[in-house]
Amino acid sequence: MDPTLSTRPGTAQTTAVSVLLPLPLIAPYDYLVPSDLSVEPGSYVEVPLGPRQATGVVWGSARGGVNPEKLREISAVLDLPPMPANLRRFVDWVASYTLARLGTVLRMTMSVPKALSPLKPVTSYRIASAVDLESESLPGGVRLTDARRRVLNALTDGTPRKGADLARLSGSSPAVIRAMADAGALDQIALTEEDPVGLPDPDLPGAVLSEAQSAAAATLSADVGAGYSVTLLDGVTGSGKTEVYFEAIATAIRADRQVIVLLPEIALTADWLGRFERRFGVRPVVWHSDLPMSERRRNWRAVLYGEAKLVVGARSALMLPYRDLGLIVIDEEHDPSFKQDEGVIYNARDMAVVRGHIGDFPVILASATPSLETVDNVWRERYRRLSLPERFAGARLPDIAAIDMREETLDRQSWLSPALARAMSETVAAGEQAMLFLNRRGYAPLTLCRACGHRLNCPQCTAWLVEHRLLDRLQCHHCGYSAPPPLTCPSCEVESRFAACGPGVERLAEEARAKFPDLRFEIMSSDTVHKPADALALVRRMENLEIDVLIGTQIMAKGFHFPALTLVGVIDADLGLAGGDLRAAERTYQLLHQVSGRAGRAERPGRVLLQTFQPEHPVMQALIGGDRDGFIKTEATARKQHNMPPYGRLAAIIVSGRNERAVDDTANALGRSAPRRDGLSVLGPAPAPISVIRGRHRRRLLVRARKDLNIQDVLRRWVYSHKVTGGVRISVDIDPYNFM
Ligand code: ADP
Ligand code: ZN
Repeated sequence: MDPTLSTRPGTAQTTAVSVLLPLPLIAPYDYLVPSDLSVEPGSYVEVPLGPRQATGVVWGSARGGVNPEKLREISAVLDLPPMPANLRRFVDWVASYTLARLGTVLRMTMSVPKALSPLKPVTSYRIASAVDLESESLPGGVRLTDARRRVLNALTDGTPRKGADLARLSGSSPAVIRAMADAGALDQIALTEEDPVGLPDPDLPGAVLSEAQSAAAATLSADVGAGYSVTLLDGVTGSGKTEVYFEAIATAIRADRQVIVLLPEIALTADWLGRFERRFGVRPVVWHSDLPMSERRRNWRAVLYGEAKLVVGARSALMLPYRDLGLIVIDEEHDPSFKQDEGVIYNARDMAVVRGHIGDFPVILASATPSLETVDNVWRERYRRLSLPERFAGARLPDIAAIDMREETLDRQSWLSPALARAMSETVAAGEQAMLFLNRRGYAPLTLCRACGHRLNCPQCTAWLVEHRLLDRLQCHHCGYSAPPPLTCPSCEVESRFAACGPGVERLAEEARAKFPDLRFEIMSSDTVHKPADALALVRRMENLEIDVLIGTQIMAKGFHFPALTLVGVIDADLGLAGGDLRAAERTYQLLHQVSGRAGRAERPGRVLLQTFQPEHPVMQALIGGDRDGFIKTEATARKQHNMPPYGRLAAIIVSGRNERAVDDTANALGRSAPRRDGLSVLGPAPAPISVIRGRHRRRLLVRARKDLNIQDVLRRWVYSHKVTGGVRISVDIDPYNFM
């Protein structure tokens, strides 16, 4: 237990404590505890800050250094359980690892300010005892009109209802309801209860597990309650990893511990939620960026009070104030979307492992294509590996072959090779479905003027505008800028001589429709599927065979199970290999493997065709030969040779601002003062590949360090000693994944 920091009764002496505020501050401030208040570490408190009040968290004893006479008093202690000690340690850890400001990290855990106070009571209604439901009139001889009758009908089950809900249910106006209350036909009661979150039932029957699945489930379940451990659950797509980790979740819930499941946001589908509900009898508590405010607020509180037993969400679910966390599962642990690139720059997968370590509980990392970082930890015996080598129920992994695009003859402005087109016809003729994968949204990634060669680019970024023909707009995928296509060229002012260059999914669909006018196509991208409900409807249409060919981006690569889908065609398998990203090969392998995993998931075997100009590339060879482990070993050797992660450490420093001169000055000064020492080198500054985003100029420096070097210490002394002016911002990205 934390020691209480309250004032000793009967003494006039007041205590001071430090209070951390969710603001961009690097340390907590000291405050006095007035004698009538009692606080402990973690207490949520209100304090004066300049002319206003702010809410913060008691972080520990006073830091001192300020004249005690000048300290101000805590104004109030909020009626909430204190922030758990291991979350406070975690906040400290994340801040020191990522070099983010302590208060900024705290803010991630207090992302719902409204959740800090209880709900205001809301007037609710129920039928007054004086009402005779058999009678044609209400108390006081008021006539029972249809509208009034409907109000009574909506309340006959005895549940008190809020005015708005009652109006909606009965179809009667709020005025009718108020008048009935005035007449004494309805009782008004003030309800403050939150909608409760459902309690998962771990003892409902789960799937009957295969031998390999049971063995893995038993091991994971035995870990729960047995301290810190990290397990890689390594299984091919469709091997039942979800069913297996569900058993570990059941064990944690039986032990009354809380559980987090982190999924890449786009994998958080109705499908996963439905499976959870079938196994545990309730919908899980979800956490992601577009949750409505009322739900965020309720879920945040349910987590703090320990009522939410399982939270499934995107990376920010890691930052909630769990009262008694006992297990974290990271599904698709290799997914790059666990890395947050803005604000506090952190990798939720890595931080989840730290959270497990601090809280002394197990962490499960699940993947069919684990990251080299994780595999290396298995090799070094820091993580355990459990393997599920086979697809469930004898479903076979698909056959993967390359289509050598150097040997195919394609018409101009077409992307579907004759070989892939043939395979599509065969598949659909056999009553099966196909999927065409192209990881590019919109119609065309580049539009140029045929008269002068001008490329349409974003006014705020060094990036081309992407044509979205379905929306009839040009969009910047970096800043969200969007405008209707211009009528004349902004450069030479010649009218409509624009040419679309390259394909996006919309253009591919246009070509496919022209080639196969009898087939039914649908596009699946973040432009056509916005909400879980859209995805669910699309899954239903696939299941009902209302679609022959699905054309989509990476959002269809994850989690979906289409039993009749037997052909996956990858339009541009080389797409991810270009560019200087150190993980380009690894990521391309992971993505194409995952897309391939959509084929042949049920009885009928699947096949995958990769259109590529470099069929001899190690990534293509590994996919075709099914040699994942060989590929990882080759990758590991190459990274070792160049001292790249996970065998060396990287940090990126990004200097940005609107004033290009000021940005250059700061970046150059950083470059000049770069530390010179053994085992550390600094590259740059250089303009970032996207050198302007949202009007901000960007320069990058890259720090490479030997693994045993404390890179944070070096950066703190070097970068933070720099004075920045002129609106320039320096951000540090430890373990960068994004090099743009
Ligand atoms: P993964 O997460 O490894 O891709 P899933 O857990 O999604 O695999 O399982 C793939 C499919 O097989 C799902 O439809 C799942 O319901 C089914 N499945 C897996 N194991 C079992 C089992 N033991 N009993 C019944 N169905 C199973
Ligand atoms: Zn832009």
